[in-house]
Amino acid sequence: MKSFWSRIFFTLGYNLIGIFILFFTQSCTYSESEQKNSSELNGTKEIHQQNASSQITLFLCGDVMTGRGIDQVLPFPGDPTLYESYMKTAEGYVDLAEEVNGPISKPVDFSYIWGDALTELDRINPDARIINLETTITKSNDFWPGKQVLYRMHPDNIKAITSAKIDFCSLANNHILDWNYNGLIETLETLEKANVKFAGAGLNIRKAETPVIIEIPNKGRIIIFSFGSPTSGVPLNWAAKEDKPGVNLLLNFSEDEIRDLKESVDLIKQQGDIVIASIHWGSNWGYDIPKSHGEFAKNLIDKARVDIIHGHSSHHPRPIEVYKGKLILYGCGDFINDYEGIGGYEQYRDDLTLMYFATVDPTKGKILNLKMVPMQIKKFKLNYANNEDAKWLQNILNRECTKFGTQIAITENNNLVLKW
Ligand SMILES: [Zn+2]
Repeated sequence: MKSFWSRIFFTLGYNLIGIFILFFTQSCTYSESEQKNSSELNGTKEIHQQNASSQITLFLCGDVMTGRGIDQVLPFPGDPTLYESYMKTAEGYVDLAEEVNGPISKPVDFSYIWGDALTELDRINPDARIINLETTITKSNDFWPGKQVLYRMHPDNIKAITSAKIDFCSLANNHILDWNYNGLIETLETLEKANVKFAGAGLNIRKAETPVIIEIPNKGRIIIFSFGSPTSGVPLNWAAKEDKPGVNLLLNFSEDEIRDLKESVDLIKQQGDIVIASIHWGSNWGYDIPKSHGEFAKNLIDKARVDIIHGHSSHHPRPIEVYKGKLILYGCGDFINDYEGIGGYEQYRDDLTLMYFATVDPTKGKILNLKMVPMQIKKFKLNYANNEDAKWLQNILNRECTKFGTQIAITENNNLVLKW
């Protein structure tokens, strides 16, 4: 009897010690910031409770502007002619950048422009990579009459996009018809040939409004709709029609437009699908979000069953909101551009850009975690932002996000994390 009870106590005690050691060692593997996050952040708390294999992580960013100056440093630069009032050649933007940050050894590799962003993409290995492609890909010289700022990348430079394994390009923006219908058609053909999916522009309205489906094996599907709004400078006559190529235009954020999207979503959305509305809207500079944008975003979530609003057009990041568990990125900011030497808007720091990594529960479409990795553009290349610059972004976003009930934490390795 005595030996029976001592055996029980011995076994129990041994197991308890084991559990204690396991718990203690696991606790110690979390960094200080991770401990803080797990106790403070709703999203992070939930993420620990859910099986990681059922989560979907998306990489999202704003404008990828590989035309103009950037095209000129890639292996196959196109015709540099511009029709801007002060700049007549795209090489001028290379000169401006070099004056600020030193010489760029041309030609650069196709992957050069992504710099440290590639390291981060490799490390996180998101399930899908989603960008707004803010340039045409064409040799066309037939510019849109009256349009001054024109973007084109030579089609032989397409590897500048594919080298970052981009899955999807939003095309409904204010540059996709810069080089007229020929330019648009060559852009679509080049992306198709390179197996890069796109939405938001097409040979007719039916094609321009058709969403893209990205299958994530064993996890679910991402369905992406792309829209352009005249508030971002998309000309009204760029709207695609039944018999005319062009852009999937949102005219006025009306009830009709919400209902149209609802009908499209109802036709396609199944359990486990994440629906993204990628919208090019609003001005280039400033942090204020028009009331109509906020209402439209929430209506899309409430009435059209959209799960993520991927907003872009602003040259710098704008506030972030979480509405009923769904992520609203009002403006992701530029991600890659040739603006280094352009003065006038320094207070917005458009050299600082963000990689958005959104982890979503595909069963509910709710955001579990949003991590943002700050980058700085130098010599047309993305570099990890330093601590001071990451904190600058954190402070600006905190100032602006307060109105939307969100805040931004910073980790010891300069990543920004959304709190809501
Ligand atoms: Zn734009």
